[in-house]
Amino acid sequence: MVFRVDSRTLRRARLWLPEGDRVRCDVCERRCVIQSGSRGICGNYVNIDNVLYHFGYGRISAVESRPIEIKPLFHYWPNSTALTFSTWGCNFYCPWCQNHHLSFRMPREEDPTTPPDELLRKAILNGDEGFSASFNEPTVNFDYLVDLAELAVKEGLYFMIVTNGYLTKNALDLLLQLNVDGWSIDIKGCPKMRRALVNIDHSIVYRNARYIADRNGHVEMVYLVVPNTNDFDECIEWIIDSHISYLGHSTPLHINRYYPAHKWHEPPTPIERLRWVAERARGEGIEYIYIGNVGDPQLESTKCPRCGKILIYRYSYRVWEFNLDRDGNRYRCPRCSYSIPIKGRYIPWKSNTLI
Ligand code: SF4
Repeated sequence: MVFRVDSRTLRRARLWLPEGDRVRCDVCERRCVIQSGSRGICGNYVNIDNVLYHFGYGRISAVESRPIEIKPLFHYWPNSTALTFSTWGCNFYCPWCQNHHLSFRMPREEDPTTPPDELLRKAILNGDEGFSASFNEPTVNFDYLVDLAELAVKEGLYFMIVTNGYLTKNALDLLLQLNVDGWSIDIKGCPKMRRALVNIDHSIVYRNARYIADRNGHVEMVYLVVPNTNDFDECIEWIIDSHISYLGHSTPLHINRYYPAHKWHEPPTPIERLRWVAERARGEGIEYIYIGNVGDPQLESTKCPRCGKILIYRYSYRVWEFNLDRDGNRYRCPRCSYSIPIKGRYIPWKSNTLI
């Protein structure tokens, strides 16, 4: 494929450096070195005459209003909806990806484009409280995220990202300065993992989660437990230890069930194994633990870590009961007054909410 500077949507990238007769992309920690006429691993950033451009800019692959709980974010704008959008490509290529039709496919010149202001109008018309960049890895759509987040936050909408957390600190800084403050971050595995994602530095994900939390970002971690891949005892312990040492006890941890998809044919994660991981995490003091992708409201609901009262009853990634007292910007257990971390505010049911 020949890339042209006069392409309809090509945008000069914000984060890159010249590197000899090539350029280095500074959007994610892959830090691709790209020669002229080529693109990086994700397929979204191209070098044309030693200038880096965002080729995938605005090539939206899907748009849909979705509940925030499905991201998952359980302690951020509860029961709100986010206009959720995706593009093409990825910087990880997990072989079990449920959305492989989006992430394993690179953007093409003929793909239709949607300018940020059009997506903003759609969210306002729809009555969504915010935006969610999701479905494929949003990092690879970085320059579009920056432009859209700037418009969205000015309009009073929130902006959240579902990500593998592999951005550079420079990329994080730009998003955090714009008040992109909701982060659902996947931890894909651990340093001892051998069957997949072996060239990923998983500790960077925790470094970034801490960096975000230190800058007023709300973080929830998501661990998809994949049998015979990232579910061995040493890996589980590394994930729980890292969670506590980087993020402390009050950052939520979602332990999600895997189902076979794309190139991965291991059986679905046994429920007992998920419960075992959850018990380990609880035993180490993590206060908000959820088991997802199993459809059990007991495992998706928020209980007070001090007195055990059910505070937020969820079913099928929707909030059915919200039993918290509001105290200024804080929420508390109505029985024992324990402070519960919630960013944003609870949104009552709306008529256009998808279930
Ligand atoms: S955003 Fe894409 S091109 Fe840039 S470093 Fe990451 S994978 Fe490479």
